[in-house]
Amino acid sequence: MVCHLLAFASGLFAFPDADTKEVTAVVQTTPVANAGDAADDPAIWVHPTDPGQSLILGTNKKAGLVVYALDGHQVQSLADAKINNVDVRQTVACNAPAAKPATIDLAAAGGRDDASIHVYRIDPKSRKLSKLGSAKTGLAECYGLCLYRPTSGPFAAKLFAFVNDKSGAIEQWLLEPRADSLAATLVRRWAVATQPEGMAADDDARILYLAEERRGLWRFPADPAEGDPKQDVPATLIDETAPKGRITPDIEGIAIYRGKKDTGYIIISAQGASEFLIYRRESKNQFVGSFSIAATPTIDAVQQSDGIEVTSSSLGALFPFGAFITQDGVVPGKNQNFKVVPWDSIANAFNPPLQISPAR
Ligand code: CA
Ligand code: CA
Ligand code: CA
Ligand code: CA
Repeated sequence: MVCHLLAFASGLFAFPDADTKEVTAVVQTTPVANAGDAADDPAIWVHPTDPGQSLILGTNKKAGLVVYALDGHQVQSLADAKINNVDVRQTVACNAPAAKPATIDLAAAGGRDDASIHVYRIDPKSRKLSKLGSAKTGLAECYGLCLYRPTSGPFAAKLFAFVNDKSGAIEQWLLEPRADSLAATLVRRWAVATQPEGMAADDDARILYLAEERRGLWRFPADPAEGDPKQDVPATLIDETAPKGRITPDIEGIAIYRGKKDTGYIIISAQGASEFLIYRRESKNQFVGSFSIAATPTIDAVQQSDGIEVTSSSLGALFPFGAFITQDGVVPGKNQNFKVVPWDSIANAFNPPLQISPAR
């Protein structure tokens, strides 16, 4: 504990740490069933009482959603739509009859072929996903997707999904899960200039992070203005693609490490360099450093990374200090898969180390 506090204190100064750090994965998932560019984006579901029983969700954009145990073996697949991105929120308020639980754990995934948001309920007892409902969007396809559930403000505890398509259109939907169905309402629509995909919402800071793949990393206010779906949405550019900025395009996934007291990190996948860039979660999102994932004797290196996810929550014996998950675009002799890196090995690759401290 002392060393973590020291790491956190020293981590407030002396960034960025200039060179790209190398870390290694300790788990890789079963390859997806389809060849070529098929795996895309992961999410993490944390088991409420036994963190070692947590699940990794991954998308196969040619087939659907795939679920893995923490050791990487596949435990479920749902051939539903051509799912590109997936995200999870847990203990979501649910409008349910008295006999049913008042909160449920949910995964939402975006279908490219049907332009729909597909919502699944995750049962903590069986660790199985089942379909709750779908919402057809006004987009050409659901390309990028993330969930947002603010912890404060006028929409506290409400659940939203952000979705985007390749034209740059972005829609924000209010999702109201019932015990056996889903209601969905469009609350905001705006656009960016070029093709976006990766998005992640900071529930505490009420910020939406969004990447235009060849342009840069943006932040937007995540709360809609009540009653005005066409409002102006002020944007702040955090970093740009080279040569103006430090990012080698495409920018793909975005993930948020929730650390102590609203601090932490925003991590992006810079596909063209097969590396991951880290920015501070707080303040003006200053650049912190970058890392890549090298080969071990049993697990190949990560190249051309697509979607990513990170958690500061313990995931039991394999990942007691949380984990970082990424799609791997090139797996020799096999279909694409996902690689899992202990968060502490990323944190300790930096000098001074990054913080290792769950949000709660
Ligand atoms: Ca995701
Ligand atoms: Ca993309
Ligand atoms: Ca690889
Ligand atoms: Ca992608």
